[in-house]
Amino acid sequence: MKILNKNYINGSWVDWSGDMADVHEAATGDVIARVPMSDPGQMELAIAAAHAAFEAWSESSVEQRVNVLGQLHAGLKQRAPEIAEAVSREVGMPLKLATAIQAGLPATVTKTYTDMLPEFPFVEQSGNSEVQYAPVGVVGCITPWNYPLHQIILKVVPAIAAGCTVVLKPSEIAPQAAFILADILDETDLPAGVFNMVCGAGQTVGETLIRHPDVRMVSFTGSTRTGHTIAHAAADDFKRIALEMGGKSASVVLPDADLEAAVKGTVSNCLLNSGQTCTALTRLLVPADRHDEACKLAAAAAARMTPGNPLDETTRLGPLASSQQRDRVVDYIRLGVAEGATLMAGGQDSPDGLDKGYFVQATVFGNVDPNSTIAQEEIFGPVLCVIPYSDEAEALRIANGTAYGLSGAVWSADQERAKAFAAKLRTGQVSVNGGGFNPLAPFGGFGHSGIGREFGKWGLEEFLEVRSLQL
Ligand code: NAD
Repeated sequence: MKILNKNYINGSWVDWSGDMADVHEAATGDVIARVPMSDPGQMELAIAAAHAAFEAWSESSVEQRVNVLGQLHAGLKQRAPEIAEAVSREVGMPLKLATAIQAGLPATVTKTYTDMLPEFPFVEQSGNSEVQYAPVGVVGCITPWNYPLHQIILKVVPAIAAGCTVVLKPSEIAPQAAFILADILDETDLPAGVFNMVCGAGQTVGETLIRHPDVRMVSFTGSTRTGHTIAHAAADDFKRIALEMGGKSASVVLPDADLEAAVKGTVSNCLLNSGQTCTALTRLLVPADRHDEACKLAAAAAARMTPGNPLDETTRLGPLASSQQRDRVVDYIRLGVAEGATLMAGGQDSPDGLDKGYFVQATVFGNVDPNSTIAQEEIFGPVLCVIPYSDEAEALRIANGTAYGLSGAVWSADQERAKAFAAKLRTGQVSVNGGGFNPLAPFGGFGHSGIGREFGKWGLEEFLEVRSLQL
């Protein structure tokens, strides 16, 4: 078991001797690490360090920033196996996928910023004005557990690249990768105070961070409920916010689409990371006359997702991250049955032989009412809702008929028809005919899914204020 009784403040590890939280292995429930449940005093120290470091770092050169981020990139690559295993154990994602996504993607994203930074126009001309892009100030970064390092990197890297200083409060449920990140940054040339990390509960240290007057921006990824609290707190002293929140994304199969390819792509997206993915395509919209065929295909695809320990090579579906999350998802499955949806695969019982740990079967519901709770609320588990529609106008109404707008997919034999439909979706990203993930494309939500964008130049601009000099 790892005892991580320290926070990273002002360029040093600071011992913590107060309350600690247990970190559990998703597949067994065993305690694998313990981390600080810090008090507001630790957070105040971290904010003071970031505040003191801001002026010098805001004036650092692009070369200095690129140098540090290059060192970070090398460290992330070097420690990738350790990161992948820690996240796989905490969150439940099969190790091979965790190596590519949970450990690989953070390194890739870091590299996109070292490549972009020398070309980024921090100064532009507009008529008789010089337009300057200046760092926002001290940024509070608050992150969830499902892609714990990836979500941190999407904030910390562009914030540092922009010349901001940072206080990170990682998730207390999957915190180990954040400690590895702090270790890596400690070895780089980053000046003391530019990056700080305090581990603890949202209601204590998180609250201190979002309400502190020296914090000029809060960049948050997590639930819509917490995003709401943060938006309210930020309004009190006009802090800038970037919010990446929940989703209930639709995968729309148009009548001319290859149904088999569309269902296969949707199921594998929906079940990625056991459904603990904000962009998961959790609503499959199919023409009513192809509904039964779609359900059969989806149930067969779900049955192929062998559940098991994420460290086993044969496992395709790992457990959920916590007992609380497992119970929440099982409650939604019960509710789906009670609401009258047809259970096509899976169900409320744990998969055979997997009584320890936080396992839930890959579950498919057919004939789901688009206004029912399971079709409206984010479940955040391996649950797919198949919803029949009568024509394209109805498909669009259903797809846009939730409070969320994070992601989506459209499938059609005609790429232009699919694009035309995609353009009507009120959502931040759409995959057209299985179009792949792009770490340079802007990522974020409409409506209750968020405010602001991450990745690429859009992610960097979030951390910049604009000043114009009239000459
Ligand atoms: P959560 O909102 O419970 O917690 C997220 C973080 O906020 C944690 O670090 C938590 O400690 C902190 N927090 C909680 N209350 C706080 C408060 N009052 N003040 C300050 N900080 C507080 O979310 P979660 O359960 O960890 O993550 C799952 C959610 O994240 C899902 O809804 C998912 O859709 C969403 N998510 C969104 C994206 C995206 O990019 N849109 C990505 C991943 C996850």
